[in-house]
Amino acid sequence: MSTVERQAWDVVIVGAGGAGLRAAIEAREQGLRTAVVCKSLFGKAHTVMAEGGIAASMGNANEADNWQVHFRDTMRGGKFLNQWRMAELHAREAPDRVWELEAWGALFDRTKDGRISQRNFGGHEYPRLAHVGDRTGLELIRALQQRVVALQQEDAARHGDHEARLKVFQECTVTRVLTEDGAGGRVAGVFGYERESGRFFVLQAPAVVLATGGVGKSFKVTSNSWEYTGDGHALALLAGAPLVNMEFVQFHPTGMVWPPSVKGILVTESVRGDGGVLLNSDGRRFMFDYIPDVFREQYAEDEAEADGWYDDPAAHRRPPELLPRDEVARAINAEVKAGRGSPHGGVFLDISTRKPAEEIKRRLPSMHHQFKELADVDITAEPMEVGPTCHYVMGGVDVDPDTAAATGVPGLFAAGEVAGGMHGSNRLGGNSLSDLLVFGRRAGLHAARYAASLEESGRPSVSDAAVEAAAEEAVRPFHPAAGEPEPGSGLPPENPYTVHQDLQQIMNDLVGIIRSEPEMAEALRQLKKLRQRARRVAVEGHRQYNPGWHLALDLRNMLLVSECVARAALERTESRGGHTRDDHPAMERAWRRVNLLCTLRTDPEPAADDGRIALARRDLPPVRPDLLSLFERDELAKYLTDEELTSE
Ligand code: FAD
Repeated sequence: MSTVERQAWDVVIVGAGGAGLRAAIEAREQGLRTAVVCKSLFGKAHTVMAEGGIAASMGNANEADNWQVHFRDTMRGGKFLNQWRMAELHAREAPDRVWELEAWGALFDRTKDGRISQRNFGGHEYPRLAHVGDRTGLELIRALQQRVVALQQEDAARHGDHEARLKVFQECTVTRVLTEDGAGGRVAGVFGYERESGRFFVLQAPAVVLATGGVGKSFKVTSNSWEYTGDGHALALLAGAPLVNMEFVQFHPTGMVWPPSVKGILVTESVRGDGGVLLNSDGRRFMFDYIPDVFREQYAEDEAEADGWYDDPAAHRRPPELLPRDEVARAINAEVKAGRGSPHGGVFLDISTRKPAEEIKRRLPSMHHQFKELADVDITAEPMEVGPTCHYVMGGVDVDPDTAAATGVPGLFAAGEVAGGMHGSNRLGGNSLSDLLVFGRRAGLHAARYAASLEESGRPSVSDAAVEAAAEEAVRPFHPAAGEPEPGSGLPPENPYTVHQDLQQIMNDLVGIIRSEPEMAEALRQLKKLRQRARRVAVEGHRQYNPGWHLALDLRNMLLVSECVARAALERTESRGGHTRDDHPAMERAWRRVNLLCTLRTDPEPAADDGRIALARRDLPPVRPDLLSLFERDELAKYLTDEELTSE
């Protein structure tokens, strides 16, 4: 076996985005020795890309805002499939998490009277997103990093070593969560490799927090960065924890579709929040044609009313461009299908005729700069061509709402995009940054408490056999014949890049924004073939910085996650939020209480290779009556069954 360096920590956090850093700060503040592992450079996590802002009902822009309104908007956005307790905790605690960031040095944009400014976003009743221009994620990470450094300086003063109680292992990828006695056993640590040297390492710890972000790189058109290969989702499955709501993938309505240099890149919702409108090829503002009945009372009927809302929201209803993302994405899709799209298969998003150029540059500096630099598109002078791009996964590790503990695996926790439940079937913009702060803190707190509750002698140990198995799995792409190929099959080795491209195409074409039974069944057949091909993936060279090898390892994760998405999407015979079925276009009240859970099949993979994921149904717990009373009965009747309404 290759040499594997071992270290012992109290808590290991996998991921250094917003969720991971917030968890790490909390675990360290509880006095626990905390290690953070991240695939990219420290400070380069996907959170950095977040543009629009952090949703929190601070009431700075409209005093009528409060946590109950935020809760209501979040539940509406998720079409009532949200884990309601998570939505409640999130709405209640988000303002404190934003003020805390400010205390740690985050410099938010201000109102005229000096308070944190808040902007409008789709699905939020009041202006609610605390922001820093359109670079909010960057400032969030900067403030959290600054806090990490401050804690390290404290440790340097007290222990003579700034990494004594909080250390970041950057450019390191975790490939296994190690558990005592196999899947479902108590967490004992993680196994991973350094990307630059290829060296293996084990960090022993009784508590591990997954904060690895999303899964977008399984899809062809995506706003997500290279890190989003569903690692945490797969690590949880392999450790024995179920994933929930995997059928719900959010396609952000406005990714650039042209020019190719910026294809998939996000155009922040703030463009619409600040007055941008969506137009079809006839120049028509088409969103008025797509207001669903459940939202009709809250959205403007015509352009005059919609435009009046920007200056006087109390006297006008909201523009339909600010409907939740799933509604806008479907509307764009329908316009394109009807032949009213832009030349490159999207629609037009125009802010240039709606705001003075200087104001656009001031409010949306990154948008203006990036599209000018990368694509020579000047958003102050011309409309953009936009269409849906895979953006966010609502599904993730099934967690306890209060503690962020993963179901079924003692010592495993999850927070941020990798965790499921909070957003139900569709996330509102701005609710991810607040989610990762609220639940990052909770995950760090409870991971620390769990680790502290175990006697030193009672901690699970990492067995040599588990380390050896993880190391063998990691080197398999260098000699796939030693793994699980079909010996003597005569089939050629596979290139990881080709398999990845084929996977992205399948997910895009067959499990994308609009789904149907025959297409998803075909996707599962295709995924089976891909799994077989993935076993023959071979890479050349050494373990020293070898991107082909890294991708070969990521493929395991993307294939597992893609199968979860396809299986759950096939099972849910209705349309809701980020899951739209051509063959079942209506939202069904009976499905509202059903969560689909994906687990890894424990039987050895059958010869016929029927897949690795098993599905189970679970009822959502009933929403607490005081929370239900925040809604009108007429509205509840759109979501809840008659039986639920009468038992209320
Ligand atoms: P990330 O920030 O992605 O961090 C994941 C971390 O895990 C990284 O450090 C990565 O290196 C690490 N990692 C992954 N796999 C491994 C592994 N195997 N081993 C070790 N480390 C690993 N949301 C909002 O609320 N408001 C917005 O305005 C907003 N704008 C957005 C704009 C864009 C362009 C995009 C793409 C998303 C936006 N979102 C926004 C969504 C939001 O940014 C993400 O959902 C959120 O940042 C996820 O944070 P996270 O901490 O869960 O994960």
